[in-house]
Amino acid sequence: MSSAIPLALAAALIGSTAAAAPSLPGPAFPRFASASALTAACDAALAGAGRRVKTLEKRAPDSRWLAAWDDLNAWIEDVSAPVGLLENVHPDKAIREAAQACNQRWAEFGSTLGQNETLYRALTSVKPRDAVEREFVKFAREGFEDSGVVLAPADRARAKQLSDRIADLDKQFSARIRDANVRIAVAVEDLAGVPDEVWKTKPRDDAGKVLLGLDYPTLNPVVERAEKESTRERFWRAKQNEGGDANLALLGELARLRQQYARLFGMKTFADFQLRRRMVENTRTTDRFLQDVGAAVQARELRDLDELRDAKARHLGTPAAATRLERWDVGFYTEQLRRERYNVDQEAFRPYFPAEESLRFVMRVAEHMFAIRYTPVPATLWHEDARAYAVSDAKSGKPLATLYVDPYPRDGKFNHAAVWPLRSAATREGRVSQAALVVNNDRKGLTLGELETLLHELGHALHDNLSATRNAQQSSAYVQLDFVEAPSQMLEDWVYDKKVLKLFTEVCPTCRPVPDEMIDQARVARDFGKGMRTARQLLFASYDLALYTADTPEPMALWRQMEGATPLGYVGGTQFPAGFAHIAGGYAAGYYGYLWSLVVAHDLRTAFRDDRLDPVVGARYRRTVLSQGRQLPPRQLVKEFLGRETNAKAFFDDLAR
Ligand SMILES: [Zn+2]
Repeated sequence: MSSAIPLALAAALIGSTAAAAPSLPGPAFPRFASASALTAACDAALAGAGRRVKTLEKRAPDSRWLAAWDDLNAWIEDVSAPVGLLENVHPDKAIREAAQACNQRWAEFGSTLGQNETLYRALTSVKPRDAVEREFVKFAREGFEDSGVVLAPADRARAKQLSDRIADLDKQFSARIRDANVRIAVAVEDLAGVPDEVWKTKPRDDAGKVLLGLDYPTLNPVVERAEKESTRERFWRAKQNEGGDANLALLGELARLRQQYARLFGMKTFADFQLRRRMVENTRTTDRFLQDVGAAVQARELRDLDELRDAKARHLGTPAAATRLERWDVGFYTEQLRRERYNVDQEAFRPYFPAEESLRFVMRVAEHMFAIRYTPVPATLWHEDARAYAVSDAKSGKPLATLYVDPYPRDGKFNHAAVWPLRSAATREGRVSQAALVVNNDRKGLTLGELETLLHELGHALHDNLSATRNAQQSSAYVQLDFVEAPSQMLEDWVYDKKVLKLFTEVCPTCRPVPDEMIDQARVARDFGKGMRTARQLLFASYDLALYTADTPEPMALWRQMEGATPLGYVGGTQFPAGFAHIAGGYAAGYYGYLWSLVVAHDLRTAFRDDRLDPVVGARYRRTVLSQGRQLPPRQLVKEFLGRETNAKAFFDDLAR
């Protein structure tokens, strides 16, 4: 091409040509017309996986064995991961249930594969050729060993039985929350203070009461804005009781089964069993760390609560000493103080952050930092709200990944925010990543807090999409649980940066730019309540570890005792653990990872101190951290990026601020 077009412009033209005839890298997302079609596809996929296992069993452990093992797992990922997503997002309950059943069969397939002696023997005789292969073999070996392949036959059978039962109970736990579709009937006068947009268009019952759900765009404004204490209390209690007695029983059983599982391996507790594979390496490290956090926040939490109690006393005109602060007051008076003292009203951000533009904005932030490009590509997916984007390298135009986004709430949909890795990249065969970002944004626009959550989730998607590991099984989808939040938590800070927010005009030239003072004030206001928030996270982390180290754990007794020991105490009639899906599932003995990752996140931010959009630092971060998945231990990745060992200084400095 010998034209006079400058290079940068030529790249832009290539980009716009690509946008005219876009396509998604990798296979199309599977569609199932009915539950029985999904089940038939599931049968065929399981049979195909079984045949592939047999073929690999016959293969000698030659230099290509590791690649063949990775190929097998990648094939399984392609046929099973989309079904894992559909269990959580498909609008048809019958299809969700068929997906849940299929995923249970995959869990059982996985526990059998993990005990395959022939493959384990082959793996252990492979000679790794470099550091990447050493990590790969180590990770695969640990997977086999933790599945019980080295146990005596009777214990091995018991391990499989326990593992399958645990997977099944975990699915039941989540399904009960997802399908509850709770509706609370509230009289209009009881909604004073709650913005009209939240409830005006909602259905009514025969008595004219408004019927509201517990989805975040409804729940948050009610508990943060309803003037009437009893309204806040009703919603807060309903949320605390999500899952009910049935889930409490499940959680108790899950904890007992996991303890039994760990004991088969000679470990004292399930927490010991899990943590030896993590960045922290053992429970001594977490105990010490959580103690340090506790010591750092204790006084601050009490101060925060005193301020809220004073605010309540002023609001009600009662003497402070005679005013009791309840748990359902915390959100309300925190917001009230933020409005009074810092002039920050989260609701006031919504007009500046329209829902669709907010999605484009967080993508634009990533485009600037990592020299990539998102191109929307028409695709028929599981629901009309869901859409697809091709992710490409801005300079070369090279296709990098596919990102699916399912942005708005609906009944029967997963009600938090999360990313599902669907396909792991592998550079050895040009396999590109696919991931799905699932959030529950408010269609009327986002608060600054919600924008922060959206960017956090995009952080997970970036970690998956920009993974460029040699093997699929080393991609970001397999990163240690106590490191995986760090790249996302790092980005949360970005929405408080005026320069970053200026990018909004690039995606929405007609949007009114959010005034600088609003951001300045929000940044100051963010520090308010940090003591309470951190103390709450500390309680969750400590409860999870206590549950998974207890001898005969009884979830409610333990919760009553632990929450009871906090300044606001335990509230009779609530059962928070019944809705704590994290620790029923993959975050069992892992919730501490949110706080531990946050330490790393604060440390990572130090490199972006001068300019959060610096493309040079961004490129280095993409290369040394995001693209590496779990090819190397997290400490080593962070060291490569920062040029020094990671430490907790930035985290504790921030707590003291
Ligand atoms: Zn996260």
